[in-house]
Amino acid sequence: MSETSYNPFTNAQSQFDKVAEIIGLDEATRKLLRQPMREYHFLIPVQMDDGSTQVFQGFRIQHNDARGPAKGGIRFHPQETADTVRALSMWMTWKCAVVDIPLGGGKGGVICDPRNMTEREQERLCRGWVRQVARNVGPDSDVPAPDVMTNGKHMLWMLDEFEAIHGGRFPGFITGKPVGMGGSLGRTEATGYGVIYTLREALIAKGIPIADTTASFQGFGNVSQYAGELYTQLGGKTIAISCWDNTDKKSFTVRSENGLDIGKLMSITDMYGSISKDKARDLGYEILDGDAWLVQDVDILLPSALENQITINNVNSISKQVKIIVEGANGPTTPDADEVLKERGIFLIPDYLANAGGVTCSYFEQVQSNANYFWEKEEVLEKLDAKMTAAFHAVYDTAQKHNLYMRDAAYVISINRVAQAVKMRGWI
Ligand code: NAD
Repeated sequence: MSETSYNPFTNAQSQFDKVAEIIGLDEATRKLLRQPMREYHFLIPVQMDDGSTQVFQGFRIQHNDARGPAKGGIRFHPQETADTVRALSMWMTWKCAVVDIPLGGGKGGVICDPRNMTEREQERLCRGWVRQVARNVGPDSDVPAPDVMTNGKHMLWMLDEFEAIHGGRFPGFITGKPVGMGGSLGRTEATGYGVIYTLREALIAKGIPIADTTASFQGFGNVSQYAGELYTQLGGKTIAISCWDNTDKKSFTVRSENGLDIGKLMSITDMYGSISKDKARDLGYEILDGDAWLVQDVDILLPSALENQITINNVNSISKQVKIIVEGANGPTTPDADEVLKERGIFLIPDYLANAGGVTCSYFEQVQSNANYFWEKEEVLEKLDAKMTAAFHAVYDTAQKHNLYMRDAAYVISINRVAQAVKMRGWI
């Protein structure tokens, strides 16, 4: 997480306030939508393997559920904060609205470092998280999913605990489940592929052949790995990728002027998205400092790790060659840095549009789980591509028509959709 004092929730609110002003949103709707409707903060005592007990802080925050049950991931991270979860829950509301799926926005988290916990300790933590909120979440009210440092295994432990508490089978309670246990084919690839579907459309709109482009990624976890895979398949060349080194406790960048082999990098990356430095060196790649990913002479930057990574302190070090920034991560750009990108005329595909593939596929998972009938992977990815492509063009057309920055155009669409739902329900 950033060393600066940027607060993601303040950022999320300032993005909202700006567009609420542009569209002339009424005062009551503004008040309702600029903060979460419900928050649960709780403590989770976990028995550790050595017999001691550690007490973890957990959160579940539901920003808005006017368009459908709240939806959003659960992060395990040592620097998790209530404000991070608030911001992420708000972005989930806009994300579900921009891809037009019938879900609202929620987010959860635990302040912990699973990299320093055994599997059994993580299982107890997952079950403990569910015990604290089992009555405030569920298939019809709030549906969690994986996020940073959580995966299908965690989701299944959580589902198992939820079903034990409520006495039944409720596969629609959680998404990101393993395939064969209610999960959807294509979910693993969905966010990363979705990022590239939107990039592909942007490049077509700008008349730039993808095969002529180069890119640099921040992060090499679930989002970047599959974004990198599809980007390569479509002909793009990845020059640099940064990730976190949990031994040195700092990030580093892997670079190759001739292009990185994404498949090979995936094979030397651990489950938390940390690339083995030694094995990357063995592949002939340069190892640079953690910020190097941002200053590369490439056409496309894909910040896909964490929030607050492009700030007023480093935005001017972005190369003049960069034409497009695709925000794979949630909230990677601070509002002041965003103004600089806008002035420089860099084309931005904003976070909650670019990375909406994950939640879109989660929605497909719910549909399949509820019908107890599962689609082929090609069918899932085809439907995903159609949704992401339509969402990109809706935002792009709004931006063109009203001469808006892409982030603002996405907000115009999402806020209008959620405000309409709030009004139709008679809440305002
Ligand atoms: P992940 O845990 O799989 O990977 C995170 C990656 O970021 C890892 O490679 C890690 O080494 C790297 N990283 C962490 N700190 C870093 C730092 N300071 N500098 C450079 N790299 C660093 O997470 P993910 O699922 O890929 O998610 C990444 C981002 O995308 C998050 O903002 C998440 O909220 C967002 N997102 C994820 C999904 C999804 O389906 N996975 C969906 C939507 C949004």
